[in-house]
Amino acid sequence: MTANYLINALLAGKDDAAPFAEIPGTPTRHYTYGDVRDVSGRFAVRLMELGVKPGDRVAVQVPKSIEALMLYLAVVRAGAIFLPLNTAYTAAEVAYFVGDAEPALVVCDPKDEAAIRPIAEKVGAKLETLGVWNAADNDAGTFLAGVSDALTMETDVPRGPDDLAAILYTSGTTGRSKGAMLSHANLASNSETLVGHWGFTKDDVLIHALPIYHTHGLFVATNVTLIAGASMIFLPKFDAKEAIALMPRATSLMGVPTFYVRLIAEPGLGEASKSMRLFVSGSAPLLAETHDRFREITGKAILERYGMTETNMNTSNPYDGDRRAGTVGFPLPGVELRVVEPESKEVKILPQGEIGMIQVRGPNVFQGYWRMPEKTAEELAADGWFTTGDLGKVDEDGYVHIVGRGKDLIISGGFNVYPKEIESVIDELPGVDESAVIGVPHPDFGEGVVAVIVPRAGASLDAASIESALTDKLARFKQPKLIDFVDALPRNTMGKVQKNVLREKHAAAFKG
Ligand code: AMP
Repeated sequence: MTANYLINALLAGKDDAAPFAEIPGTPTRHYTYGDVRDVSGRFAVRLMELGVKPGDRVAVQVPKSIEALMLYLAVVRAGAIFLPLNTAYTAAEVAYFVGDAEPALVVCDPKDEAAIRPIAEKVGAKLETLGVWNAADNDAGTFLAGVSDALTMETDVPRGPDDLAAILYTSGTTGRSKGAMLSHANLASNSETLVGHWGFTKDDVLIHALPIYHTHGLFVATNVTLIAGASMIFLPKFDAKEAIALMPRATSLMGVPTFYVRLIAEPGLGEASKSMRLFVSGSAPLLAETHDRFREITGKAILERYGMTETNMNTSNPYDGDRRAGTVGFPLPGVELRVVEPESKEVKILPQGEIGMIQVRGPNVFQGYWRMPEKTAEELAADGWFTTGDLGKVDEDGYVHIVGRGKDLIISGGFNVYPKEIESVIDELPGVDESAVIGVPHPDFGEGVVAVIVPRAGASLDAASIESALTDKLARFKQPKLIDFVDALPRNTMGKVQKNVLREKHAAAFKG
């Protein structure tokens, strides 16, 4: 037992000899739960030596490694606040986050040291580096070099359920990124719920191929594994062939939809997946077609769930029961969900079946945006309801459907056009691989509908045939006024289609 709330939830009562992680590499390394306790404890001591105090932020932009994961636990054990940053962020972007969060310590990739040092110094933060350890050069930055070989003191700083454990910046596709403040209880409660809901036990072996600067790989995958006392095969990145080769030794995979699109294109999936207990998808919509194809090949239904940085996980398809393609299932135990009229000042709850703004409430919902009280007040009501920004509905069987981000809603000629509806129709057409539908300024209609289509390999499509195929399928105001063909949709690392990029590209489509 420790008085550190989250660490207690993650590590109390674990068998020190039990396996926690296999880390392929040269050589392959193994971590037991005893190693987790020891390494994260020694890291926590080092953080304290570096002057990190309870409540301080520790900003971390480093490549994925088991040491980076131990650093997360160490920051929490030291009573500080973990602030992971996407490895793709440029120094200019990091400067914004560091300026906003004012961390006491910044940990960066050794190769970025020169660029990040002045950024850290500007806010009076110390700088340490952490790379990926390998036996050949045994040099993975200054942080590891400073860590003592033996655990010499009690490390856990007492923290209560409402203390902050992490700040994760939202991806910020509109305007500046906001720092979502997550408490010890936010993280512990959500992972405890998921362990029960998805049936995780100490016998599980998770293929961990997600990045660890995002809620999915950092909290869902890692915290669920720890709470269950399970183990993981910890990979630097996702590779479909490698995942298939590992499946016979694993029980579960958590992925973004792109993982599944790649898996179904590889031979050997059906045979390799026989002993797998669970495939989870989230962070972006999984196409029904991918769900169906995966089921045909493996006989298993991917379990799709819905969550976000600010709320952890909100809904999940059932573990026992019908996992429905194109839906994100039911609210998780303890999470309330409702659909309200989007633009209304007062709360108007919509009847079942109607599309509106999704709001959620529960122990999973964050504490607010870091140093943005107005933004927080706009989105997180005093009674605890959080406006997710996602449009969706609850169908007659209670399944939640997400139809897209509120900001992606198109209003053309005064009519609401939901991109997902049009995308689903286009995706059904022969020769279409996938599509993204956006609205851009239009002189007559306010916004005009634009469809960006990825043809299937070998298919030759033209705008006229798509237009005529849609004539009888969609009301006139929903039909695209412009069709663009591309080889691939722009996606971020979590597999989300970057509609803002498409909107910029076509911003002038209807001008003049
Ligand atoms: P992030 O904060 O980066 O995790 O992004 C959260 C957003 O991803 C949500 O608000 C949704 O718009 C989207 N999202 C997450 N899971 C799903 C899902 N299963 N289906 C559709 N959209 C999803």
